[in-house]
Amino acid sequence: MIPSSFEYHRPASVNEALSLLQEYGDDASLLAGGHSLLPAMKLRLSTPEHLVDIGHIDDLRQIRQDGDDVSIGAAATHHDIESSDLVASSAPLLAQSASVIGDVQVRNAGTIGGSLAHADPAADYPAAMLASDGTVEVLGPDGARSIAAADFFVELFATALEPGEIITALRVPAVAAGTGTAYLKFPHPASRFAVCGCAAAITVSDGKCLSARIAFNGIASTAFRDAGLESALAGVSLDEDSVRTAVSGAAAGQELLEDSFAGEDFRRQLARVYARRAVLAAAANA
Ligand code: FAD
Repeated sequence: MIPSSFEYHRPASVNEALSLLQEYGDDASLLAGGHSLLPAMKLRLSTPEHLVDIGHIDDLRQIRQDGDDVSIGAAATHHDIESSDLVASSAPLLAQSASVIGDVQVRNAGTIGGSLAHADPAADYPAAMLASDGTVEVLGPDGARSIAAADFFVELFATALEPGEIITALRVPAVAAGTGTAYLKFPHPASRFAVCGCAAAITVSDGKCLSARIAFNGIASTAFRDAGLESALAGVSLDEDSVRTAVSGAAAGQELLEDSFAGEDFRRQLARVYARRAVLAAAANA
């Protein structure tokens, strides 16, 4: 369990990190919290010759209000996010998902940028980013660009990031009055990663669901918004029985993952159960 040898770089700024990525190309990897990359290196699944450590760059750790959005630096740790009052009040899905990641050690070191770049289908933030209508801000050799979360997660462990690009921040529109959110997951008993996670943002009017944004992680090869489920929930009374009926088609048409822990049927049932619980919890928070 010893990684192959590498050279460690500690750039003082994002621009210096960009230059290092350009200089070393495919031989370089960014290092943030190291909680996904280092295990992969120890297993020799990843063998970068140069590690460019961006975890300590202050500019990348800022959490601030930016107009109507909340901006979260890519190197903000899961703990920074779960303990931020601004995130709790304005981007609550991110706080709710950060708080159930791994354990205290993982939350103290792991970062949101590293998690999104790694794009593990069982990671918690992707569903929260999708249901928050979030945007990923990146900087690369050709300048800065914004990628909607809906376009960011391409496939299993694959994103829309181009070679040499760095995630600098995530932007999330502040949650509107009358909208409640909840992120709930069925965690794997050993790893705590999501076997099924559901992020829900529910806008409530007169006890009914005016509109819904629902996203899942853990059950398919990438996190996804469930447009069919969102339509089924529109106009529905937010009581247990009505919501149970509305979520009966959760994840319809999606090819679901199967592994030794959870087969496709079990994951589909988890999607129904966690959608119902997340919708009711989100409505109660509105
Ligand atoms: P790193 O490991 O440093 O990097 C991961 C990848 O992202 C690398 O390819 C790196 O080059 C790239 N990268 C890093 N930062 C950037 C950036 N700014 N721009 C572009 N690319 C970048 N996650 C969950 O969601 N839920 C869990 O329950 C959970 N449980 C865990 C339990 C354990 C025991 C462990 C070890 C990890 C767990 N994780 C879980 C994963 C954890 O959240 C990781 O911290 C996270 O996936 C990666 O973040 P990192 O900062 O550690 O990234």
